[in-house]
Amino acid sequence: MRRTSDLPSRADLVVIGSGIVGAATAFFASRAGISVLVVERRPALCSMTTAIAVGGYRLQLEHREELELVGRSVRLFERFAEETGQTLHDPGLRAQGYLWLARSEAAVARQRELVERQRGWGVDGVELLTGDEARSRFAWVPDDVVQARFRQGDGLIEPKRIAMGLLEGSSADVITGVGVTGFQVSSGRLTAVVTDHGTVAAGAAVVAAGPLSELLTRPAGVELPVSAVRRQRVVLWDVPEVPRDAPMTVDEETTSHWRPVGSGAYLLYPDASEPGAEPVEHVTADPGFALALLDPSSPVAIARTATFWRDVWERAGSAWFVQAGQYTMTPDQRPLIGQTEIDGLHVNTGYSGHGVMAGPAGAEILAGLLAGTRTENPFRLDREFVPAEQAF
Ligand SMILES: Cc1cc2nc3c(=O)[nH]c(=O)nc-3n(C[C@H](O)[C@H](O)[C@H](O)COP(=O)(O)OP(=O)(O)OC[C@H]3O[C@@H](n4cnc5c(N)ncnc54)[C@H](O)[C@@H]3O)c2cc1C
Repeated sequence: MRRTSDLPSRADLVVIGSGIVGAATAFFASRAGISVLVVERRPALCSMTTAIAVGGYRLQLEHREELELVGRSVRLFERFAEETGQTLHDPGLRAQGYLWLARSEAAVARQRELVERQRGWGVDGVELLTGDEARSRFAWVPDDVVQARFRQGDGLIEPKRIAMGLLEGSSADVITGVGVTGFQVSSGRLTAVVTDHGTVAAGAAVVAAGPLSELLTRPAGVELPVSAVRRQRVVLWDVPEVPRDAPMTVDEETTSHWRPVGSGAYLLYPDASEPGAEPVEHVTADPGFALALLDPSSPVAIARTATFWRDVWERAGSAWFVQAGQYTMTPDQRPLIGQTEIDGLHVNTGYSGHGVMAGPAGAEILAGLLAGTRTENPFRLDREFVPAEQAF
């Protein structure tokens, strides 16, 4: 990338936003020969949603349509230096697995059905374990867990490093501290992108502004079928009990989960009852969220996933804090990729909580559409939205 502090007066393609989706769009579009300008309104690149994503990737998915997206993104992560041509940012890929734990009959049945479905889709390496088999591999699995599903090939990545590596590996011009405020349109065609620092003449733009995307398209008359939903993570930076090589570990019933990071862990609970909210840049975190996860007597306690979380609570020696961002949800929980009603104005958003693992491949699809090397697009905006089973 080329960092610039002067806003160019024209560009072939303006990418709005430098999160992982904008970064990947800039990367694949510039690889396709398009000259790209990335406009980021914050003073720091990739500092919003992507910077607080927990960094899990998995082929143990609930929706078949996402398999191809995540599979392609994972191949990119595995060959990141070769594909991006840079070594400054390592994706931190660790195939430490995803382990889902079940104790109730309903959760056991769900696991069996899901594993059968995933195997039917051709996902390799998904194992169904008894509780004892799970404990023989991971000694900290609680005694009342009766079944687990596990896939060693799933695992952990570092979202911000991936976004920065994609930007670094692109040939885009990149400017920070410049916010896009609107669009100029003539006879239904985009002619310019308007910013708080001036106007950039452009026949094409991609809104990759994460949860804020709709705030940009709505005033231009483009309604996106998206809702913003708060998601929080608890960060504990020093927890000696957490094994560094542990998989992402998920309670099948509550979906509370954790992963090792640094010398601590991230803890999450994607609360299905969290209502949709207005998209905002600064999302207020609820300090009570940490207690809901850490207190072993809570119905969504993280202690359901590993015995040592009870010890961490009782020892009471680890400090924590809570961070919050927003998922950009669509009714069918698939992304929105492609052109809007305005000719030349495209969007790449709506990853419904999977933008890190699915976003890079989605951006490759969009770059193909922009370059005219691809026409097929299952994620087009005018598709029929069939409400999907809640995933996280
Ligand atoms: C707690 C949490 C955990 C998550 N964990 C995972 C996970 O494990 N795996 C996974 O795949 N996904 C995960 N996600 C989802 C993932 O973080 C998102 O899908 C992804 O980061 C979205 O990336 P983005 O580039 O679309 O948005 P963002 O990262 O939000 O980037 C949007 C950018 O656009 C900029 N922008 C906005 N408006 C303007 C404007 N007007 N002008 C210029 N710039 C603008 C913003 O400043 C921002 O930098 C998680 C999300 C949360 C909140």
